[in-house]
Amino acid sequence: MRRLRLTIHHLYADMMNLYGDRGNVISIKKRCEWRGIPVQVVDVGLQERIRPTGCDLFLFGGGQDREQALLAEDLSGSKGADLRAIVEDGGVVLGVCGGHQLMGHSYETPEGEELPGVGIFDLHTEPRKADEERLIGNVLVRVLAPETGETHEIVGFENHGGRTYLGEDVKPLGEVVVGYGNNGKDGTEGARRLNAYGTYLHGSLLPKNPWLTDQLILNALRRVDESFELEPLDDTMEGIAFSSVAGRVAGRR
Ligand code: GLN
Repeated sequence: MRRLRLTIHHLYADMMNLYGDRGNVISIKKRCEWRGIPVQVVDVGLQERIRPTGCDLFLFGGGQDREQALLAEDLSGSKGADLRAIVEDGGVVLGVCGGHQLMGHSYETPEGEELPGVGIFDLHTEPRKADEERLIGNVLVRVLAPETGETHEIVGFENHGGRTYLGEDVKPLGEVVVGYGNNGKDGTEGARRLNAYGTYLHGSLLPKNPWLTDQLILNALRRVDESFELEPLDDTMEGIAFSSVAGRVAGRR
């Protein structure tokens, strides 16, 4: 069997790391290393091409409107087309908050500037109205994992002004149990199409939700070896971290 090496492409690592979303990269990297799976991290900045290796995972963190405007420009040409092609081919992409928003058709800033998205997800994001608050707080979301048919919960932290609305051709990542999610109205959180995932959950998301981290890793490795299995890890600490937040959040149910 070919020795797999996973390449994590960290898109706009320095610009889109508003709430420590770099922790998602660290979580994937460690969970591979603990299993002896070779893994490398490649930062992909402005004007730098995405260079898939054949065993890849692409991460896109959260950022402020100013950074999002720079990204929208950078993604408006061949780079965005490359990312769309990667998703259509089953590539594993995770976009968080600002990344989630820019994976849709458009993101409108509070100043009324409409930033073009990559068009991976059939969704758009509108600014909060003058009398609306930013959507901030801990979040508990119920996720039905299509790969296994199992229902899981994920926890995280959200802080966004944008309200995201899903179209017909995309599913939510999950349903909000506690918190706001995409728009604070329709009970949806995030987006999922093929192996592309969008979410508003910072935290960072993955360290406290190890099942999701492993699902992303597995989806990436199985594109090369569909029989690949991940050895289980001792997730005691991750479970304590999850329960600590879920317990606090559940108290708000
Ligand atoms: N600037 C976007 C908003 O406020 C996204 C913020 C973020 O990435 N946390 O909606």
